[in-house]
Amino acid sequence: MLQEFLLVFLALSCIQAMPMPQPEDPMSPSERMFAEKYLDTFYQMRSKNTFAEKLKEMQKFFGMSVTGRLDSDTMKMMKTPRCGMPDVAEFRQFPGNPRWSKAQLTYSIVNYTPDLRRQVVDDAIQRAFGVWSNVTPLQFTKVSSGNADIFIRFGARTHGDSNPFDGPSGVLAHAYGPGRGIGGDAHFDEDERWTSSRAGFNLFLVAAHEFGHSLGLDHSTDPQALMFPTYHYVETTSFRLSQDDINGIQSIYGRRQKA
Ligand SMILES: [Zn+2]
Ligand SMILES: [Zn+2]
Repeated sequence: MLQEFLLVFLALSCIQAMPMPQPEDPMSPSERMFAEKYLDTFYQMRSKNTFAEKLKEMQKFFGMSVTGRLDSDTMKMMKTPRCGMPDVAEFRQFPGNPRWSKAQLTYSIVNYTPDLRRQVVDDAIQRAFGVWSNVTPLQFTKVSSGNADIFIRFGARTHGDSNPFDGPSGVLAHAYGPGRGIGGDAHFDEDERWTSSRAGFNLFLVAAHEFGHSLGLDHSTDPQALMFPTYHYVETTSFRLSQDDINGIQSIYGRRQKA
């Protein structure tokens, strides 16, 4: 009897001596590397240089609990398809708060995705600009040759700038703030499946977000805002900008003048 008891006791102390599973840090080395790359890409802050500091900034941005630990919720958010522009950057691509100094802007679609008919792409792009021209004095005109303020292109991996795309999912697109040359241009990752529905990634929704950057908006922390960094599908026929988006764009360009 005593022997039995001893055995049970020994077994119990064995269990207790085993390290408790750490729910906060179950990540494999490859996931840790993924997280480091994510923070280096989207949280470009020299003042915050440790992994935990940047992680806290990311958790704060997304309204998650700010633990500085790579828990599964944080990892899940990092793996959500998103825009390629940073959420928090100390040094922006263009100094100051760039804006277009004219209200009449031109755009050119350099190439087309094979995922959709050209007419469907043209329509999605036109409606995406319409989201912004509805609430500002800005007007957008498509040109098919020559110069344009905003060039739109589809490309996979390395596609002519210093920000290569990453293959399917992950980064969907990126766009440059107002300016000459590449300024204002919007690029879409051809490794995504572009659609005009809720399947794959809806081109209208992603384009409307990217054109926000083309006009000078940064990412919003408001999950309802079009300028929130991650993709989620919403019904496009009844699409409306959030008040946060409207306030943002009108703070740069003012309201739409009544006719
Ligand atoms: Zn973005
Ligand atoms: Zn690009």
